[in-house]
Amino acid sequence: MAEDCIFCKIVAGDIPIRQVYADDELLAFHDVSPQAPVHILVIPRKHISNMNEAAAADQPLLGAMLLRAAAIAKQQGLAESGYRLALNTGPDAGQSVFHIHLHILGGQRLEGRMG
Ligand code: AMP
Repeated sequence: MAEDCIFCKIVAGDIPIRQVYADDELLAFHDVSPQAPVHILVIPRKHISNMNEAAAADQPLLGAMLLRAAAIAKQQGLAESGYRLALNTGPDAGQSVFHIHLHILGGQRLEGRMG
């Protein structure tokens, strides 16, 4: 747990969320400020700031995040219509919470292919 990390506080149960999924290594919940009809975040319970801090040992965890995101997208009815997975790292990507998280965005035609 990192001090002053809002997502570590969520993992600790100190901040309420609209939970979508939980297991012993991951949590998924609705983004508080949705940018699409479906906007869900998948986070590891372990604190990793962003991809710059991810290590080889985190490979299974990162893979689990991706596969869980796909399963959640399917549960949300997005498999056919499509969805975007986004993982922002650093200032140019607009990262605002420094605890790694995968955005699942869908439910409408998403503007732009990348940005
Ligand atoms: P990023 O800009 O990639 O760092 O994304 C951080 C995301 O976390 C933003 O989309 C925020 O709306 C979202 N967020 C921040 N605080 C909370 C919270 N307490 N519950 C749910 N989502 C949050």
